[in-house]
Amino acid sequence: MNTSIIGYPRIGNLRELKFASEKYFRREITAEELEKTAKEIRSYNLSLQKNSGLDLIPSNDFSFYDGMLDTAFLLNAVPARYTFLGLSELDTYFAAARGYQGKNGDVKALAMKKWYNTNYHYMVPEIDDDTDIRLAGTKPFDLFSEALGSSVKTKPVIIGAYTFLKLARYKGTKKASDFIEQTAAAYSQLLKRFSELGAEWVQLDEPSLVMDMNAADIQLFSALYERILPDRGAVKVLAQTYFGDVRDCFKELCSLDFDGIGLDFVEGKKTLELINANGFPKDKVLFAGVVNGKNIWRNNYASTLLVIDELKKHTTDIVLSTSCSLLHVPCTLANETKLAESYKKHFAYAEEKLAELAGLKKITDSEYPLLTEEYRRNSALHSETRSGRNDAVREKVTKLTDGDFVRFPDFSERERIQKERFRLPVLPATTIGSFPQTADVKAKRKAFRSGEISESDYEFFIEKKIAECVALQEDIGLDVLVHGEFERNDMVEYFGECLDGYIFTEKAWVQSYGTRCVKPPVIWGDISRAKPMTVKWSVYAQTLTDKPMKGMLTGPVTILNWSFPREDISLRESALQIALAIREEVLDLEANGISIIQVDEAALREKLPLRKSDWRSDYLDWAIPAFRYVHSGVKPETQIHTHMCYSEFADIIRDIDDMDADVITFEASRSDLTILDVLKENDFRTEVGPGVYDIHSPRVPSKEEIKAAIKKMLERIPAKKLWINPDCGLKTRGNEETVPSLKNLVNAAIEVRNENC
Ligand code: GLN
Ligand code: ZN
Repeated sequence: MNTSIIGYPRIGNLRELKFASEKYFRREITAEELEKTAKEIRSYNLSLQKNSGLDLIPSNDFSFYDGMLDTAFLLNAVPARYTFLGLSELDTYFAAARGYQGKNGDVKALAMKKWYNTNYHYMVPEIDDDTDIRLAGTKPFDLFSEALGSSVKTKPVIIGAYTFLKLARYKGTKKASDFIEQTAAAYSQLLKRFSELGAEWVQLDEPSLVMDMNAADIQLFSALYERILPDRGAVKVLAQTYFGDVRDCFKELCSLDFDGIGLDFVEGKKTLELINANGFPKDKVLFAGVVNGKNIWRNNYASTLLVIDELKKHTTDIVLSTSCSLLHVPCTLANETKLAESYKKHFAYAEEKLAELAGLKKITDSEYPLLTEEYRRNSALHSETRSGRNDAVREKVTKLTDGDFVRFPDFSERERIQKERFRLPVLPATTIGSFPQTADVKAKRKAFRSGEISESDYEFFIEKKIAECVALQEDIGLDVLVHGEFERNDMVEYFGECLDGYIFTEKAWVQSYGTRCVKPPVIWGDISRAKPMTVKWSVYAQTLTDKPMKGMLTGPVTILNWSFPREDISLRESALQIALAIREEVLDLEANGISIIQVDEAALREKLPLRKSDWRSDYLDWAIPAFRYVHSGVKPETQIHTHMCYSEFADIIRDIDDMDADVITFEASRSDLTILDVLKENDFRTEVGPGVYDIHSPRVPSKEEIKAAIKKMLERIPAKKLWINPDCGLKTRGNEETVPSLKNLVNAAIEVRNENC
């Protein structure tokens, strides 16, 4: 059996591409120097893959920023506002990726969106009525030739025509179906060119095929490939899907003239079922995604072999592959020098996944697979009992009953009790939690971590920051205060470090967007709270003011979604374990006199399944209860807030209300307040604080501007339910813009209060 991967991380083992790009943005290195780093990464990755024995090595999986953006440039779908700047090709590309402000003009970047159910973000191509889609670039050919120069005939990888048209944003009156002819012609030309260059396979990525597809979608997909595939010369075309199964278009996919079909056997719940029910076309190669491209655990060869054995009943032409691009996992374990071997041996990052494919190849090629050294070592590893089991936690989770997820009394009774208790003015003003993490805060944390200063010195410093922050908020006139979150580096890592069951990596960086990478912590064992996590800071802050001080926690779903999850227990089980720990913290805060507690669920919508039919059973049915459990034990007079970083929850609005928080704050200023209509239509019960200004930009919003936003909100939301706050936490901002912005916010709230209420 041959092996293949869908794509390899391009950031470099030590994030070399990030650092070089950022230097280039700061004009510290030239375009040639940046290109040199890029070339080194590509050449390193190429030899790594070659030496691992991988049969089909991808090319064009490299990108300076994002593969979708590359495809837009390849297809000439570049808005004129970027080309008009008259910059070099590379700088035009970066202008579209990051915006441009300089002597040639002032333009914002293209929109950025989450890539399916991952934490990667792609740039959204814009197509206008006059966009002339045609093959306009040479990058895929150049990179193919570059690898050929090192004697490797790679498999070029390009986003497929259907996915490209589905993900693009249409600015004019035309829609995707109006661009079939042009787009198909461009792809067809691309295939021909590869055929001339001698490529054997071209991989067209079509992850949009795993989404819910209606008849028009299927029609669009078929129409495109009926035009693209004929006349392609000698090159073979692989339709590569990932992140799920292709239940809506399996028949069409099989009947089109592809030479290979790539399917996901990890996240594709129905992939095997589809093949068992329909068979697999004899004239096509099946690229079987059996090695998980999203998580970091070692493959379990025994279960993988079971899948392969099933597949062999239908076809003999199988290529072993990953479930998706390895872009979503860190590069190599080689740099994890501090992690104990007892953990590390269970991990496989991208480089180790190459070895797994080689191992599986060896096993499947062997006459006695179960006797191979690879198989035996792998089953020994998987039969070890794993450390980190906590029976008490497991038992608590099993013993949860329906009643544990319900808070008493009901919402309206609590609302009455809380209004009585807090006696806040109408349109109370507050913030989302963090205040600017200025250089002094970061420097002190670094000094503390490296042992330069003692714990008590560090804590003394944090207390000083808290005191300043409280004084500032009183001075500004906010109604509900926060301590400022100076003790936290990150809203998940901070809690992870205080929870048993978590482990932390050193270099496990994964690209999130452009040059930004994240390092998700790993859930290793059962989760429990080792010690109070935030109580001392919140309690100290409350001693400094008579106004209510909000306790500030991250919710269980967000902690889980921003970690590498376990695979040996369900996500539901993990979420409930974390919920148990956060609930203890909530009750501790309450017992220590904190009367308002905010539990952030910034990432709640992120892992909503791609298919609507899975939303409930696979996600909402445990995610919403996990949140409810966190606060169901507090007294009626304790007010529970939550926060989300976006407002795209119109389609799950009932579920959001069902979280049964007393107040929810969320981002609204960038999404033209359309969510307000949805709140009104649905008679949204929870009190709301739609952000009145965008904290993602250093701009200071004027008082008048904020007043206008508040008045617009009041047209849809009763004054007694409306809170006034920024979009999100202020940690990435400076004090220069934060202080005047918040002053304008408070004054705007006061003036509207006096005028209207
Ligand atoms: N409380 C957090 C903060 O203010 C929330 C951050 C977030 O939503 N991403 O920083
Ligand atoms: Zn936020």
